[in-house]
Amino acid sequence: MAKIFSIANQKGGVGKTTTTVNLAAALAASGQRVLLVDLDPQGNATMGSGVDKRGLTQSIYQVLLGLCSVVAARQRSDTGRYDVLPANRELAGAEVEMVEIDDREMRLKAALRSHEDEYDFILIDCPPALSLLTLNGLCAAHGVIIPMQCEYYALEGLSDLVNTIKQVHRNLNADLEIIGLLRVMFDPRSTLAQQVSDQLEAHFGDKVFETLVPRNVRLAEAPSYGMPGVVFDRASKGAQAYLAFAVEMIERFRRDATPSLAGTSNSATA
Ligand code: ATP
Ligand code: MG
Repeated sequence: MAKIFSIANQKGGVGKTTTTVNLAAALAASGQRVLLVDLDPQGNATMGSGVDKRGLTQSIYQVLLGLCSVVAARQRSDTGRYDVLPANRELAGAEVEMVEIDDREMRLKAALRSHEDEYDFILIDCPPALSLLTLNGLCAAHGVIIPMQCEYYALEGLSDLVNTIKQVHRNLNADLEIIGLLRVMFDPRSTLAQQVSDQLEAHFGDKVFETLVPRNVRLAEAPSYGMPGVVFDRASKGAQAYLAFAVEMIERFRRDATPSLAGTSNSATA
């Protein structure tokens, strides 16, 4: 059964897509079967996986509206060696069109249900909003990975996100928990970054991943070649960090394999 994680943060440009694409490729490189779901009309994860969003006739948009199957929309990232449910700007219309549909926040969960045995990990790249699309991502997932930059305003938005996750946990998806906060674009020479990082550790404890992803230009260059950074320049510091992050994830879930994924945060339901 796949472990399903949404990569979410309503703040824009904090490294969600970079994290999703590189974690997918790093997990695939270590032999895991991975599906990446692009839930963002920007289609950045699609392009960054080497799938051209412009020529798509079937995408996650049609899947969410029940107009085509996952199998019909699914593509292969040849560079990343994982499967992709791609997105493009058409997906922006889904927000409005789904309003008419029953169980509109459960559409993605329903679509993925019959594919969970085909993968070890399903990673969902969410858009920068607490929208119906993100809600679909949170309802379909076992957990949330929150990438964040260690800067002052990062902490402000975090409480909104944590509250949304708690509400979804309470009302819609009892499996949902915060898997962890991933510090990205980290600059170890910045005093502020160090202070924010310390605050995160003090507040969230072992929910902060050990891996620190540094700011690294190779990660930013990779998408223009349609490649995950870990494939584009495996030796770069950024790629090495995401490879280490994949190891951290695999080890964490091997360790937690019994009794269950939901085990760590069930106190919130009690
Ligand atoms: P959006 O909210 O628009 O979906 P996002 O949260 O998905 O954005 P990304 O697109 O992953 O964020 O990253 C924003 C920008 O920062 C991109 O140009 C990306 O290439 C760059 N970037 C991400 N992580 C790093 C890093 N560790 N080092 C350098 N540049 C990075
Ligand atoms: Mg993005």
